[in-house]
Amino acid sequence: MAVPRILIVGGGYVGMYTALRLQRRLRRGEALVTVADLDSYMTYQPFLPEAAAGSIEARHVVVPLRRVLNKCQILSGRVTQVRLGDRKAEFTPHQGPDLTIAYDYLVVAPGSISRLLPVPGLAEHGIGFKTIEEAIALRNHVLGRLDIAASTPDPEVRRKALTFVFVGGGYAGVEALAELEDMAADALKYFEGLSREDMRWILVEATDRILPEVGPDMGRWTVLQLRERGIEVRMGTLLKSAEGRRIVLSDGEEFDADTLVWTAGVKPNPLVGAGDLPLDKKGRIRVDPCLRVHDTGFAFAAGDCAAVPDLTRPGEFCPPNAQHAVRQARTLADNLLAALRGHSQRPYRHKYAGSVASLGLYKGVAQIYGRELRGFPAWFMHRTYHLTRMPTFNKKTRILMDWTLGLFFPREIISLGAIEEPRKEFTPPPPPPPPPPLLSPLLWGCRRRPGPRRSVSR
Ligand SMILES: Cc1cc2nc3c(=O)[nH]c(=O)nc-3n(C[C@H](O)[C@H](O)[C@H](O)COP(=O)(O)OP(=O)(O)OC[C@H]3O[C@@H](n4cnc5c(N)ncnc54)[C@H](O)[C@@H]3O)c2cc1C
Repeated sequence: MAVPRILIVGGGYVGMYTALRLQRRLRRGEALVTVADLDSYMTYQPFLPEAAAGSIEARHVVVPLRRVLNKCQILSGRVTQVRLGDRKAEFTPHQGPDLTIAYDYLVVAPGSISRLLPVPGLAEHGIGFKTIEEAIALRNHVLGRLDIAASTPDPEVRRKALTFVFVGGGYAGVEALAELEDMAADALKYFEGLSREDMRWILVEATDRILPEVGPDMGRWTVLQLRERGIEVRMGTLLKSAEGRRIVLSDGEEFDADTLVWTAGVKPNPLVGAGDLPLDKKGRIRVDPCLRVHDTGFAFAAGDCAAVPDLTRPGEFCPPNAQHAVRQARTLADNLLAALRGHSQRPYRHKYAGSVASLGLYKGVAQIYGRELRGFPAWFMHRTYHLTRMPTFNKKTRILMDWTLGLFFPREIISLGAIEEPRKEFTPPPPPPPPPPLLSPLLWGCRRRPGPRRSVSR
């Protein structure tokens, strides 16, 4: 008899943890597991803000699928369609002809994508914050803006370079802004002539609260904390336009900004709509409490792309977060094995435990089982919790080393923006720019280099 084939679409939280569990529990020759993902690694997204801020080396927050899933087949490329009808999926590798993959059991877990709105200029100038590449690019970009501002006397250029706008007050937006502001404020001591007052950090949020994950009280506390740090928090405000990097807000304010980060929510990956998967009104895959795609016994889905009933809150669905994704993966793998072996399956049930968020070095906010924590204890809990959750001993150790080294050495302030153009040396140079105005650095209003801002070096 042919060995059953299990296809896992997406090697993120749900995909990787499901494959890990299957690889551990499957008997020899019981099934073949194939994982297809755009990347060859899983990204531990809650550490992206710290990777962007340079507290953790970027490569340490991603897990190589080929190493951890050494009993699975890994395919790198894009799944373009999943069909239940004939149990096949279409796959486009990064190079070479397209493939049709036949399967007996299916796990659909391509997660979510940023929910882009039709704001003029957003697609041209905005940057998301969901991938390690975006986190690295943003770090290089922010440090690059400090370099630009410190190297020109032009007040317009300086103001534009030092204005950083983040849209969306969920944990991705708030953590990214808070960590990067903290990094930039710390880095300023190496940029002669720049001070904290020269920078503008703005958080734009459409509703009247931020960080809904930590509850309304902690959300309000976070707003106060950010404002105390000089960060402008604009509640009940929309981004109207970003054309030509000119930011127009719904409260009427207009200004130029070189940096626009868009973290205003996510929507299910459009792949789930490309085949015959049953979807709900929000475009999520309809699954039953055992995580089976409705009306099938062979297809499963979970994570950000699925409408998983929340049995602890009847009538509601699990929110898209890692806490659910990891636990759903465990149930999903067990139920898939049960389906394979003809055993009964169990429903997914998890009561949301709360959330932790980092707001920069030694600063955080948390709400765990109704207990509210703020400042250092919350920050410590954030680090400890996520370190224990980070897959593989190897990555845990490396992250711990990064943090330990960070206690003794300052953070790197190098902008490696040039890695985005590795072939620049080989392309003809553009025509020379007009000569710069003859201004003495003294006329730029350079100040004495300020001393270190903190007692603990990074
Ligand atoms: C910055 C940030 C911070 C966060 N912090 C927290 C936090 O503190 N706590 C928390 O609980 N949650 C947090 N989250 C949310 C959490 O990371 C997600 O809910 C979780 O990753 C969802 O898991 P998933 O498996 O559904 O999707 P993902 O982990 O996103 O995995 C989807 C995978 O599918 C792959 N894929 C996509 N399309 C295709 C395709 N067409 N073909 C093949 N592969 C494809 C992707 O490459 C990816 O590897 C955070 C998210 C972000 C962005």
